Amino acid sequence: MSGQVMVTFDDGTEDQYHSCLVLTDNGVSAVVGVASKLMGTPGFLSIEALEHMKDDGHFICNHSATHPWLGKGAEKPGLTKIEWKDVLQDYESAKDELNNLGFHGDYLMVPFGTWNIDGEVGMSSILEKFRWVRMTIGAPLPEQQGLWTVDGAKRLYPRNYSGRSIGITAAVDIRDKSRTERWVRTAEAADALCVLVYHRVGHPVGSGQDITWEHFLSEVKMLTEAKERGVEFVLPTDLVPEETK
Ligand SMILES: [Zn+2]
Repeated sequence: MSGQVMVTFDDGTEDQYHSCLVLTDNGVSAVVGVASKLMGTPGFLSIEALEHMKDDGHFICNHSATHPWLGKGAEKPGLTKIEWKDVLQDYESAKDELNNLGFHGDYLMVPFGTWNIDGEVGMSSILEKFRWVRMTIGAPLPEQQGLWTVDGAKRLYPRNYSGRSIGITAAVDIRDKSRTERWVRTAEAADALCVLVYHRVGHPVGSGQDITWEHFLSEVKMLTEAKERGVEFVLPTDLVPEETK
């Protein structure tokens, strides 16, 4: 019994450079989803920083071009709703841009998750165009039917799960600091796979999924201890290999 964990970061904010350096020092590789049009703009990782992270073994992938919103789910002040065809076009333009830079544009972590895909029809077009897709918690996708559901909507996956869509098991959150550790230990006990998601690190006091640096260091400690116990850290290409061209 050892279990597997995938550590993911959303949005490619500049603080993630230092978070990933600490993970590198502890032998953990992470998946970083960037919005390609935001790269190098204030507050976001530059291409040079991302190249360095890639050289350190982190997996730089697609989190759309502009972080578009399909207009479903809770209102998002300041965001404009756009149509599905334009959302899909946004994901695809990021794919080309990131692939041209030598990153993993074919591996998509959908912004706003399930809410930002136009139902099953949208999902099949996504799976046609992308090699692997990470959705959010509780995403009721055809490929996940029959998979192991625990604690309401949260999911663990079978070891070495090779489905092309996957959901998040747990998001780090200041309101429940033991949440990620609980899921890592559950995956470990069941020899299953859990997918963790982190957002910004270095918030002065923490806010929802944006955590303080101190909180992140306790997460790194938890992950490092799990690694020492034999938990395996995986990247998307360990589960769904790149297409051979
Ligand atoms: Zn995002």
